Amino acid sequence: MAESVKVLISEEDVNSRIRAMAEEITRDYAGKQIHMICVLKGGSFFMCELAKRITTQVSIDFMSVSSYGSDTKSSGVVKIVKDLDESIQGKDVLVVEDIVDSGRTLSYLMEMLRDRGPASLRLCTLLDKPDRRVVDVDVNYTGFKIPDAYVVGYGLDYDQRYRNLPYIGVISFD
Ligand code: 5GP
Repeated sequence: MAESVKVLISEEDVNSRIRAMAEEITRDYAGKQIHMICVLKGGSFFMCELAKRITTQVSIDFMSVSSYGSDTKSSGVVKIVKDLDESIQGKDVLVVEDIVDSGRTLSYLMEMLRDRGPASLRLCTLLDKPDRRVVDVDVNYTGFKIPDAYVVGYGLDYDQRYRNLPYIGVISFD
């Protein structure tokens, strides 16, 4: 089977959207320190690009949860593979994700983080596939709403490959 990737969102469009999101977030958090939580591994490229363009104080931490294997379907099972290094109590937390699909991972994660007593808790995602939503999730900042297709690039993988593509592409198997 031959894999191919077709550009869905160009590098220029992703970068300019991230710049606009960073400006909005900077305005919303004026005078505050944003504690950004990156959901590994997919969210890492987006978080770095976003953080670089935010001009208020930023601190970062990482968390890893498993919801997908090398398959392209959600298992519905969420397991913490790596927890945060620091407490989030009293902090203004911004969770940064690559994509919200069924919403299962994020709804579980946001609930768990809320229980840890942050001063505020918001969610920022580069991509959203609203047609696939099974569980309601409050998304505060969305980069792009995309159709129901399996996407790769900008941190998103297929079987651990393609994360380094500087654009968002749709993968197909011919
Ligand atoms: P959810 O729990 O919302 O169904 O799934 C969220 C996670 O599934 C994302 O963080 C991502 O790892 C994975 N995922 C969902 N859709 C896609 C997709 O189109 N491409 C890739 N590479 N991962 C996806």
